Amino acid sequence: MKYTEFGLINKIRNDFLFDDEGIIGIGDDAAVISFFNKNLLITTDALVDGKHFLSEKVDFFLLGYKSLAVNISDIAAMGGKPLFFLLTLGLSDYLDDSQIDMFFYGLKSISKEYCIHLIGGDCVGAKDFFVSITLLGEPFSKPILRRGAKAKENIYVTGSIGDSAFGLSLLLGKEELLLEEKDFFIERHLKPVPRVGWMEKIISMYKISSAIDVSDGLLGDLIHIAEESKCGFELYLDRIPLSKEKIGAKFCEMELNYILQAITGGEDYEIIFTSPDEIDVEKLEKEYKIKVTKIGSMVDEGYNLFFKERMIDFAEIKKVSFTHF
Ligand code: ADP
Ligand code: MG
Repeated sequence: MKYTEFGLINKIRNDFLFDDEGIIGIGDDAAVISFFNKNLLITTDALVDGKHFLSEKVDFFLLGYKSLAVNISDIAAMGGKPLFFLLTLGLSDYLDDSQIDMFFYGLKSISKEYCIHLIGGDCVGAKDFFVSITLLGEPFSKPILRRGAKAKENIYVTGSIGDSAFGLSLLLGKEELLLEEKDFFIERHLKPVPRVGWMEKIISMYKISSAIDVSDGLLGDLIHIAEESKCGFELYLDRIPLSKEKIGAKFCEMELNYILQAITGGEDYEIIFTSPDEIDVEKLEKEYKIKVTKIGSMVDEGYNLFFKERMIDFAEIKKVSFTHF
C-alpha cells in the first residue's frame, strides 16, 4: 500500500464530505453530534499486536489500561469528559485466559477511575490480537476544536513532553538510566494520564480556542491545529517542558537533540491548546497542581521554530511525526 496515514484520512474526508449544521465529522480528536440541544463526543482508537505493543512482552493489565486511556485523552482534547464505551476484541489463538483476565483487570481499573461504563462491543477471531475502543463523552461547556486558533494567540501545553518516547527507548534498551528514573519514564509510556480534570479546570478559568492531544508528537500535532485553523506558528524549543531533573546531565548536554526527539516522539497524551488569554501558569501550578507551559504563539502563516533566539531550519527535522502504517 502506498497511502500514508494522513494521505488516506484526507482522501476519506474528501470522499465522504458532508455539510450538516451541528455535526463535526472527520478531522478532529472526536466527532461531535448535536441533538436535543446537547453535544455528544465520539472517538475511536485501536491498538494492534506487533504494531502498538508486543503481546509476548506487554503487561496485559497496562494494555487494558492504556487502550482506554488513549481514547479518554481524545475526549479531554475536545474539552470533555468520557461517559460510555464499546469494546471490540480481535482474539487470536496464541492468547491465554490469564492474559485476557489481566487485560480486563486493567480496563476495569481505568473505567472505575474515570467513572466510564462499558455498554457493548464485539469479539471476533483475528490473526493478530487487537483492541478497538469507541468512547462517547460530553463537553464540559462547548466542544473545543482543532480549527479555532487565531494569529497572535498563545500556545500552551500541559505536563511534560518526551517522557513517553524516552521511556520507549529505555524499554527497547536503546538508552540507559538509573533504575528509579527509568521507572518514571517507562510508566509515562505504559500508563498515560489523560488530562480530563486539568482541562475541566483550565476551561472554567480561561478562553480556550483550540486543542489537540499529543499522540503523534508535539510538532506534528501542533501542525494539525495550524492546518485546521489556517494559521502558522512560532514554537520556542527551549520552552518545551522536559523532565530535565530526571533525564540527567548526559542528555541535557545534547539538549537540542533531546528536544527534537521529544517533540517528534509521540504518545505523550498531553494537551496542546491555544488561548487569547495570558494564563497565570504559576497560580495554576500552586493552587491546583496543574502544569501548563507557554511554548509559542500562532501567527498568520509559516511554521517557525526557535531555539535560544536562533531559528531552526524546519528541514533539519526530517522525522516530523510518527506514521502509524
Ligand atoms: P487521533 O490521533 O486524535 O486519534 P487520528 O490522527 O487517528 O486522530 O485521526 C484524525 C481524524 O481522522 C479523526 O477525526 C478520525 O476520526 C479520522 N479518521 C481516521 N481514520 C479514519 C477512517 N478510517 N475513516 C474515517 N475517519 C477516520
Ligand atoms: Mg487525538
